Amino acid sequence: MLKKVLKFGGTSVGSIDRIQHVANIIKKEHDSGNQIITIVSAMSGKTNELVKLSQEINKDFDKRELDVLLSSGEQVTCALLAGALISKNLKARSWMNWQIPILTEGEHSNSRIININTTKINNYIKNGVAIIPGFQGISRDGDITTIGRGGSDATAVALAKLLDADRCEIYTDVDGVFSTDPNKIPVAKKIDKISFDEMLELSSLGAKVMQSSAVQTAMMYDIPLEVRSTFTDRKGTKIFHQENLDYTKSVTGVAYSKDDAKITLLGVEDKPGVAANIFEPLHKAQINVDMVIQNISSDQKKTDITFTIKRNDLLKTKEILKNNKKISYKGFTQNEKVAKVSIVGAGMVSTPGVTYKMFKALADEKINILAISTSEIKLSVIIDEDNTLNAVKKLHTIFDLD
Ligand code: ASP
Ligand code: MG
Repeated sequence: MLKKVLKFGGTSVGSIDRIQHVANIIKKEHDSGNQIITIVSAMSGKTNELVKLSQEINKDFDKRELDVLLSSGEQVTCALLAGALISKNLKARSWMNWQIPILTEGEHSNSRIININTTKINNYIKNGVAIIPGFQGISRDGDITTIGRGGSDATAVALAKLLDADRCEIYTDVDGVFSTDPNKIPVAKKIDKISFDEMLELSSLGAKVMQSSAVQTAMMYDIPLEVRSTFTDRKGTKIFHQENLDYTKSVTGVAYSKDDAKITLLGVEDKPGVAANIFEPLHKAQINVDMVIQNISSDQKKTDITFTIKRNDLLKTKEILKNNKKISYKGFTQNEKVAKVSIVGAGMVSTPGVTYKMFKALADEKINILAISTSEIKLSVIIDEDNTLNAVKKLHTIFDLD
């Protein structure tokens, strides 16, 4: 007998047929003797629909009431799924956040789970299936809260930890984590096993199968995860600590994002404190600066500094640069049609020449590299957006991922 936390995302419960299908999966798990705790998201599109309704009243809708509104999406799925299980003669019931309770702290729409009372759930799963809403909680003051978009993953991971579950399975609409985007690169392969670190790099770089903060929590508490499809019986992707993996390949996946922009400040003074003066106000405005390159100044006095940011921060960044009295520069250039392409792999640490191989491959494709950043298990480059798919394809091939 295993204690299993099963999380079903929005598309998995997107219609009555799909909810019936999920009920069959749960029934099968339960009939084979496992204790089942199910976390559900709102039916696909529901949360967006509710956000839109609130905006029809006020673009800046009251945050407390927005949480009351949004949490209703998960409530609907909980009741429908519990009802479906009961109709299949299973003992099942749902609870809302405040009935459990799922205690959170922090501001509305961006709260964190700090505790979940597991007593009722543990008692109930001895012979029944417990259905828990993802994404929502209750504050110490008794207000309904939500924990950020995509937050049901975080609820599942927190619950798996607090219940000391044997498994935490994330059911979704794809077969698992892929070596690159399977929608754009058909030769992408499902990855059978991946480390938390690699998964984090891939998920923050645009491979959106799981919320990255949930992966981070799972890593911190060592909760092995499995991402798998609701719609096929195929094995999914197992995610666990690196020590448990053998690396036969240097690169595990190629990720890309097309939401970056690049700015170059020209003729900046080359003296101590200048970089700090440029980036301090950006940091204060919560603008996330990703890559930074400083050229060597030819005359020891002036230099150029290039950095990348998210494209939707571009306007704000330019404003801040213009109003920054602490720095002087000749002007700046911008390029908002850039993309970031990254290779990720824990095997890179022990394989020499990966950097060269990546640069050579891009050179062969006549793709110009605009900026570079590296970490132990990741190498990212900024290139012109038009070259993205070309670069991803090439890298996928030369690192033996096809
Ligand atoms: N329903 C919420 C959302 O769409 C939470 C989730 O799906 O995980 O963001
Ligand atoms: Mg979702």
